[in-house]
Amino acid sequence: DEKSEKCTVGCPILDRNLNGGIPTKSITEVVGESGSGKTQICLQLVLSAQLPPSHGGLNGSSLYIYTEYPFPIRRLKQLSLSLLSSHPNHLLSSSDPLSRIILRGISSAENFVELLPDIELCLRYWKSRLLPIRVIVVDSIAALFRSEFGNCCFDLKRRSSLFFKISGGLKLLAERFGLVVVVTNQVVDFIEGNESVRIGNFSELCSSGRRVCPALGISWANCVNSRIFLSKDQTGIKITRFSSLLFAPHLPLSSSQFVITEKGLFG
Ligand code: ADP
Repeated sequence: DEKSEKCTVGCPILDRNLNGGIPTKSITEVVGESGSGKTQICLQLVLSAQLPPSHGGLNGSSLYIYTEYPFPIRRLKQLSLSLLSSHPNHLLSSSDPLSRIILRGISSAENFVELLPDIELCLRYWKSRLLPIRVIVVDSIAALFRSEFGNCCFDLKRRSSLFFKISGGLKLLAERFGLVVVVTNQVVDFIEGNESVRIGNFSELCSSGRRVCPALGISWANCVNSRIFLSKDQTGIKITRFSSLLFAPHLPLSSSQFVITEKGLFG
């Protein structure tokens, strides 16, 4: 809803599209092809979340669950320096922002389901700290399901049961602890007649002209509350990226253009 607390992603044009930032108490999916900027958005989010609400943050720490190795620690450090230089007077500058980001690598969907009770304990424990955990990132959800499942009925059933356990668990935590939850997802080539057609016409929004839709199909798509779609367009060495807010019950469809530089995302 309009009044729910939001967290800046540290890019004014994206924040504007999102009407102030990514909402708490729900699951937001960032979907796009490789190199479109999904991880950059997540890294900026976990840094910006540490800012006070007066600067668009949540005064919070974050839990960053990554499934693709290695975790881009150098890039996180680089973005953290950029954030510190733009907020020199804030408490962030007196301590290490990386100490407020808990990193956890996982390798399978089952592994994630097993981790959910530990995540809840972690949220309770950190609640008493100076900056409680307010953000969970899962980067990427698609990688957890990649090549592990075949196409037979049993596997599809097992797969959707895991989707529901993961998204149900995350939704519960988001509501209980007032969290921003962001999951990243890959795109797959659009196939006419595929069930994913019903998700929305992604091909119209993809500037590269490729006909694509989010991976994992309709049962996963129904598990997320809002979706930001990223695409990129390369002319020579210049890469322009586009973000479209494809689905968010509380907001109209919108789109914007941004670039990624050493210092982060800029509109
Ligand atoms: P995704 O998660 O969608 O695969 P990323 O968020 O990892 O994409 O984005 C990677 C892209 O970001 C790289 O291909 C590069 O174009 C850009 N990028 C990463 N680091 C820098 C940097 N230091 N300076 C400029 N661009 C960068």
